[in-house]
Amino acid sequence: MDRFDVVVIGAGIAGASAAARIAAARHVCLLEREARPGTQATGRSATMFALAYGDRATRRLAAASRAFLTDPDRPDGPLASPRGMLHVASPGQEAALRTLAEETGLPVLSAAEVIGRLPVLRPERVAGGVLDAAADAIDDHRFLQCCLRDLKAAGGELRCGAEVTAIAAEGAGFRLETSAGPIVAGWIVNAAGAWADQVAQLAGLAPLGLCALRRTALTIDPPDGQDPSRWPMAIDVAEQWYFKPEGGRLLLSPGDAAEVAPQDVQPEEWDVAVAIDRYTGLTGHEPRRIHASWAGLRSFVPDHAPVAGADPGHPRFVWLAGQGGAGFMTAPAMAEIACAAVGGGALSDELAALLPDLSPARLMAS
Ligand SMILES: Cc1cc2nc3c(=O)[nH]c(=O)nc-3n(C[C@H](O)[C@H](O)[C@H](O)COP(=O)(O)OP(=O)(O)OC[C@H]3O[C@@H](n4cnc5c(N)ncnc54)[C@H](O)[C@@H]3O)c2cc1C
Repeated sequence: MDRFDVVVIGAGIAGASAAARIAAARHVCLLEREARPGTQATGRSATMFALAYGDRATRRLAAASRAFLTDPDRPDGPLASPRGMLHVASPGQEAALRTLAEETGLPVLSAAEVIGRLPVLRPERVAGGVLDAAADAIDDHRFLQCCLRDLKAAGGELRCGAEVTAIAAEGAGFRLETSAGPIVAGWIVNAAGAWADQVAQLAGLAPLGLCALRRTALTIDPPDGQDPSRWPMAIDVAEQWYFKPEGGRLLLSPGDAAEVAPQDVQPEEWDVAVAIDRYTGLTGHEPRRIHASWAGLRSFVPDHAPVAGADPGHPRFVWLAGQGGAGFMTAPAMAEIACAAVGGGALSDELAALLPDLSPARLMAS
């Protein structure tokens, strides 16, 4: 029987970053149902970092993650590089723009200033913008590989093709049945993304009410004669569309959020068409071909703040879930919390103060 101090379930960016961090102090096994890590939401993301995105807890987790992502001393360079994010308001959306500026303290740009930074936009479609100049693009592949390398270097294991199918209490910890054999572990970190409620139920614990929302993305060529490499990411102030430079092309999304059951989600033709229609309406550019299209799941609990911490029903079952559209930008701080929850290290004061807002217990009160 294989024994580990900690089993982390799910090798997306949440599980991989937590496993890497915990492995410095504990013997860790990272389990993944798919044949490769990062196959689900993690491999389908837009991977931006922004301090002015999401709810208050997400913003604070992102702020606490920034030093890790932008660390200039990493041998192969920082994991995030400057990109900028421009929240764009069309005529009629001025009030939403003012609210965003007030909430974030970010500067408001005139329509002309927005067009100066994003010359692809049609002037009549722009009323103004709010610029988050400090937003970065995260190198998703390198971030995941860096976590897996650190996990291995610290003596941890990654097991793919290992679906957790049953969990029973054993001593103070757990016995897990997996499609690759049984494992005994002192702690479980539940980083199963959209499937995190299902994993909790395997352990006889209450679900948190996770809801999986499909989001579609696709890539196109930029308009002839335009070089998008220096454009910021452009995002509608109501998140009804966004586009960003991606390897010489543009990545577009219609900002869709249809609720679906947890699954290997595929893009719907309708959502792809909506993305193209909104982009063409904004820019006048009609893309000749779509290079790739995909969809991924963003999962949320009812109050839309992430979840990190021990389950009230079992102190050794630790949740890392509900990251919504911010799982990359918050992963380093979430990993630090998971590590502290399994006794692997002390938490910064900043993160310790956030624990009540992240605890699964907040969702079970009353
Ligand atoms: C289109 C799109 C754009 C996005 N843009 C951004 C962005 O700009 N910035 C940002 O920070 N975030 C963004 N996100 C969100 C981000 O991608 C997610 O928050 C993040 O990837 C979630 O990571 P995760 O590890 O929690 O989940 P996942 O990557 O889904 O990993 C969970 C893993 O658990 C495994 N699993 C489930 N059940 C079991 C089981 N029983 N046994 C074993 N393994 C199991 C699954 O196979 C899966 O691989 C975006 C998401 C989408 C879809």
